Amino acid sequence: MIEIQNLRKSFGPLEVLKGIDLTVAKGEVLTIIGGSGSGKSTLLTCINGLEPIDGGQILVDGTEVHAKGTDLDRLRRKIGIVFQQWNAFPHLTVIENVMLAPRKVLGRTKAEAEEMAVRQLTHVGLADKLKVYPSRLSGGQQQRMAIARALAMSPDYMLFDEVTSALDPMLVGEVLDTLRLLASEGMTMICVTHEMKFAREVSDRVAFFHQGVMAEIGPPDTFFDAPRQPETRTFLAATH
Ligand code: ATP
Ligand code: MG
Repeated sequence: MIEIQNLRKSFGPLEVLKGIDLTVAKGEVLTIIGGSGSGKSTLLTCINGLEPIDGGQILVDGTEVHAKGTDLDRLRRKIGIVFQQWNAFPHLTVIENVMLAPRKVLGRTKAEAEEMAVRQLTHVGLADKLKVYPSRLSGGQQQRMAIARALAMSPDYMLFDEVTSALDPMLVGEVLDTLRLLASEGMTMICVTHEMKFAREVSDRVAFFHQGVMAEIGPPDTFFDAPRQPETRTFLAATH
């Protein structure tokens, strides 16, 4: 479970998160939507301890992410994160890219890492691309490789930050299908996305961020069909 209590985060004088309260249960799929600069990416980077915070707390399975004694490396192994773009190592093949972290971080043997990489690359539909170099993959395939790479660490949580935003519209669907598959398997996920149809289909809850505040949160039907906040209505009207 991820528990966020009164989270505050500033960059210099700029207050980016203004007291966020949010709990994500095991197996839940939460999507976050909101305008540019509303603090969505910052929230994700705070959750896995990439950014220090200025107030409140974040607990992951009861461990306070920003507490002094917290073993961040250990915590991050539980939380896979996939961004808009991931720069794979160009001189390594797809399978070698996916094997790298299990080998280096988890200390897996070559055979173990290989088995895991094959399993996860097959999972995301890249079984036929194991031995090719990343530059030979389409954008959608590269994103699926990035997802496989995160999954190879056997995370308990997956955070996705606009993983389809840099893609050709033709390639968005295949990446969303991979996210749908993970959701159907019960992965606990937080997805920042602009794909409203996807958000409606896959989410247990949808949250709307507006100027550093979580202005609204609710199940997708209520959220999209009967949003309560005027800011949500304005945002949804603009995205239709
Ligand atoms: P987008 O939809 O464009 O990705 P976002 O909701 O993810 O937007 P954030 O990336 O969280 O927004 O940024 C929130 C605010 O914090 C923005 O005003 C941004 O310029 C600022 N910001 C983000 N990261 C940093 C940083 N490392 N240093 C200074 N300011 C930052
Ligand atoms: Mg962002």
